[in-house]
Amino acid sequence: MTAAIHPFDTLMDITARPPVVFVRGQGSWLWDDSGRRYLDFVQGWAVNSLGHSPAVIADALAVQAKDLLTPSPAFYNAPSLKLAQLLVANSGFDQVFFANSGAEANEGAIKLARKFGTLHRDGAYEIITFTGAFHGRTLATMSACGKKAFEPLFEPKVPGFPKATLNDLASVERLIGDNTVAVMLEPIQGEAGVWPATDAFLRDLRGLTKARGLLLIFDEIQTGIGRTGHLFHHQGAGVTPDIMTLGKGIGGGVPLAALLATREASCFAHGDQGGTFNGNPLMCAAGAAIVEQVRQPAFLKTVRDNGQHLASELQRISARHGLGEVRGQGLLLALDLKRPIGAAIVAQALDEGLLLNAPQPDALRFMPALNVTREEIAEMIASLDSILRRSGAARCVN
Ligand SMILES: *Cc1c(COP(=O)(O)O)cnc(C)c1O
Repeated sequence: MTAAIHPFDTLMDITARPPVVFVRGQGSWLWDDSGRRYLDFVQGWAVNSLGHSPAVIADALAVQAKDLLTPSPAFYNAPSLKLAQLLVANSGFDQVFFANSGAEANEGAIKLARKFGTLHRDGAYEIITFTGAFHGRTLATMSACGKKAFEPLFEPKVPGFPKATLNDLASVERLIGDNTVAVMLEPIQGEAGVWPATDAFLRDLRGLTKARGLLLIFDEIQTGIGRTGHLFHHQGAGVTPDIMTLGKGIGGGVPLAALLATREASCFAHGDQGGTFNGNPLMCAAGAAIVEQVRQPAFLKTVRDNGQHLASELQRISARHGLGEVRGQGLLLALDLKRPIGAAIVAQALDEGLLLNAPQPDALRFMPALNVTREEIAEMIASLDSILRRSGAARCVN
């Protein structure tokens, strides 16, 4: 007999996972297989818009699962039409293509821009992206990323993604040439540590791309669906791109993403784009339930109010412990730690039943459920405060 393989070892070891198995979630809370409870301020990386297992998602999935799972993307289905109409009616875009992950939606955006270049710009194909950017883990989207750690990986990369500097219009202008077809960015760089593009920069970029006949692509996979207090971040900034991608929060916990485009930019021909599960009724039913709720003005106002409250509580903590700035908007916030203690704090928090995320060694990111309560914010702040107090004490001893 061969030795038993540990269940953990049957999964490819693609990241350092803590030895915890989650079995249940409700709202801002998760339970592991020993019955231990955790307060979750990660929410699957800003995925669970209404927290864990909300009734609207469970019901939408249960009803749809009994009606129709998938007829093939070569046919129309009612939930995908419903969700597409909701997205079009609540945005400045005319058409939608559904995908199963953010990377796949971005891959679609890259293809759409290249198609636009073929049709209207003499074959121009370059898409200017930004240092620090994160757009996904397919080969093309990794090439579009401006993440240092990706640079040596999986060479040769897909060519055609020169990198500019966020909030520096001249750095974009310098890269524009005959081969340029688009500029693509996250309105707030999430994985890089929550670094916002200023509204002025987004407006200037809109002006520049329009003047030069280029497409402007917003990756709103992390900022969209209410995360920053508006249904889409660009609506708050008052800037409308030609193409937008959504992911993460749009499914409220199930795999769903979307590529949206204006009529002028929506130029795929038959055969250019597709995918077996794209726009399947099951996921689109969940997406429609989420968008129906998140688009309500009163819901978005609560996100803005709770975001301001969380930011001011984090500022208080920062002042008390001599930490840095609080960045971000709505319920996508980061606390600058000014030193590389992020991983240690995340580990300590897990020990105490709190899930936090450190996207960079010197920053914590907060992306709770959009319907997080003031009590849950208070509990997280108290826990973080006590962790920081003890880590400060440990520093003095050393
Ligand atoms: C998470 C993320 C992606 C990738 O989405 P996946 O669903 O993981 O493929 C792309 N862009 C941004 C801004 C993201 O936050």
